[in-house]
Amino acid sequence: MEFIKKIDGDSLLLTSNNDKLKILDFLSKEALFLKLNFFNPEQSFNKFDKTYAFFLKSHFRIEPNLSDRFKKYFDYIDINKIYDNQKIEYLKTIKKALLENEILSDNNQKYSMIYQVNETYVPSYFTGKIEKIYLNEATLEPCHISVCKDQKSQVFYVFEKVIEFLEMGVPINSINILNSSEEDDLQLTKLFKDARIPYNLMKRNGLYEYANVIELERILLSQGFDQAQAYLENLTDDEIKRNLIKVFNTFSSNLIKENPEVFIHEIKKLRMGNRRSKEALTISAFDDFIYREHEFYLLMNYYEDSFPRIHLDNDYLSDSEVQLIDYPTSTMYNNMLRNKISCKLNQIINLYISYPKEIIEATLPSRITLNRPVIKSEYNYVIKDRTYLKDMAFLDYAKKRHDYLNFNLHAQDLKVLHNTFHQHYQQYIPYFSGIDKSDLECLIKQNNTLSAYKMETYNLCPFRYYLTYLLKFDSFKGNVFTYIGNVIHKMIEEKTKFGNYDLEKIMMEFSFPEEEIYKFPVFREIMTENIRIIEDVITDFENTTAFKKALVEEKINLPIDDNFKLTGRIDKVLIDEVYNYFLIIDYKYGDENYNPSDSDKDYDLQLPLYLMAFNKQNRNLKPAGMLYQKTSLAKEVRGTEASYKMKGVVIDLLSVIERIDPTMEKIVGMKLNKDGSLPKNSRSFVSIEKMNDILRETENRMKTVAKNIGLGDFTIKPILYDIDQQTKESVSCKYCNYFSICYSKNKILGGE
Ligand code: SF4
Repeated sequence: MEFIKKIDGDSLLLTSNNDKLKILDFLSKEALFLKLNFFNPEQSFNKFDKTYAFFLKSHFRIEPNLSDRFKKYFDYIDINKIYDNQKIEYLKTIKKALLENEILSDNNQKYSMIYQVNETYVPSYFTGKIEKIYLNEATLEPCHISVCKDQKSQVFYVFEKVIEFLEMGVPINSINILNSSEEDDLQLTKLFKDARIPYNLMKRNGLYEYANVIELERILLSQGFDQAQAYLENLTDDEIKRNLIKVFNTFSSNLIKENPEVFIHEIKKLRMGNRRSKEALTISAFDDFIYREHEFYLLMNYYEDSFPRIHLDNDYLSDSEVQLIDYPTSTMYNNMLRNKISCKLNQIINLYISYPKEIIEATLPSRITLNRPVIKSEYNYVIKDRTYLKDMAFLDYAKKRHDYLNFNLHAQDLKVLHNTFHQHYQQYIPYFSGIDKSDLECLIKQNNTLSAYKMETYNLCPFRYYLTYLLKFDSFKGNVFTYIGNVIHKMIEEKTKFGNYDLEKIMMEFSFPEEEIYKFPVFREIMTENIRIIEDVITDFENTTAFKKALVEEKINLPIDDNFKLTGRIDKVLIDEVYNYFLIIDYKYGDENYNPSDSDKDYDLQLPLYLMAFNKQNRNLKPAGMLYQKTSLAKEVRGTEASYKMKGVVIDLLSVIERIDPTMEKIVGMKLNKDGSLPKNSRSFVSIEKMNDILRETENRMKTVAKNIGLGDFTIKPILYDIDQQTKESVSCKYCNYFSICYSKNKILGGE
């Protein structure tokens, strides 16, 4: 590091954030006050004003997800150049507007010298002399690579290695575990806790992973800025609150009020670090560690696709397009990333690498070049005859106590064990026994909306509703299908509202699940084809129906009782303005149907609830029907329009049916008798009386759910009248995550 002292003050150092910290640490230890310029090339060189995302939303109608993806290109775009590419020209227009409005400021500084620290990537806009420097020498010490049987075995390898280091006398705060997955962390921390080994889990959590923040979002979007601010003020004074206040203070209240979604997006980007306690080993992400020569490093999951995470050619600009602005292609980027990591790994003296041989499929070791001796071995976990778990004796007591109480088997040491442990022994009682009144009131106050989905969940199993929506045990994480659903819904919304849409832009607006990003190219192809077909189907129906007025994403906000209101959004409402009828359409990726007999089911409420709510909010209109439109591509029947027919029910008035679908081809079951009359037993038609019954029953159901929640009825009660054919369990439990704590449920279903 001595060479740092010789660096001229006007120089620029291209470094990662951690190398920058390391250099600053060195300077402060040496009491040197050099004024060095640092730049992390993974960020933008030109400076963006904090209101950037708000500006793009208000001036260009660009959603914040997409505006984030645009940022990296602006450094490379020359506003005086004409590009033979529409997307780049579009980015150029945005850049000009950003500069004119001082949202982006050109960083024109000149540097006497540029230093590339530890193989950091050098952006093409830096020209002139660039010198490479390394913070540490590459080592010739061998590194150890252990190939483990599977993920679990890798966790045991790391745990045992930690024990070995400790037994060798390595200070605990010199042990670092890098690149563990979330699942590894769960298992590792359990092992460390049981063995009383202190650890610092230094992974940064998104602020959005905290229930208070999710609640704040809900209040901001549903009740407005003032309510959200009041909620924030009442939160307990902790780090989450401090972070939220900071982000609230970053933007003016007008900006937040005008674009609450952009503000939420800014919150979602915030991460909170964990504090390091003194004497403990550290578990951190690979990008977050600062190398110290005498410490020990256990690098996990060293296999292709995971380490490093590969960049794919699936961003806003494709690889062939980025070349027009000298931005690195994904191949170049991946190579630079590997070089950077290789440089870092070659410097670590005490390096222990591991990877599982198999994760669903066989893995391949990472393609990082290691220019140092490598000792490779296989690791298989073998159960040991010693334990680091202090709790084993406690477990022994629990078992012997059970044997004694149930089978009258009296172990010799039961008395001693009892004297030692009985005070700490608590029995697990696996059923819901009630909730304190004031706790319930407080939970309801914080969760006072009911959607169709929430009501269906309550009716499927009250306990499941309680854990999910009141205690918020299971925060929903998006997946590939929610991504596709979002894209298709947005496409249909824009198509109906504006007559056209930009599919590329919409696809970038939503986040494809990070861990499955390698599947994106395949899904992009499927979706593009899917959307083309569904667009034709929808346009065709809209052109032929006499229900000409369309409302999309129609908001529902209907008071139910003193505690709750019904909220939601209807995908589409079509209105016949001549005869004052309306029709509800819901887009579903799967193959949904609604039959009149479904009105007896408690868990098929969405369409009738929407119909009832819209009817209540629009008394001048009469309900004509409720339909599901399938939006997924059914490959085997592609091109045969029948598979895209809508499913559901409409009222049995021929005059209305002919206005809904004059072709009689777009809805399943739309067939007339030879004499032109309506068939008597069709499941697609309901009488006006039956439709009114459905509306009345739905309203009663809604009120009953609200009432029962208000009374605190959260018994474990899966429905027993419908059994899932695949799992042979109640349909309530099919996708429920709480099965492991549902002892009573098993009893209800006749199990243990
Ligand atoms: S597993 Fe079944 S019984 Fe248990 S909470 Fe879930 S839905 Fe209810």
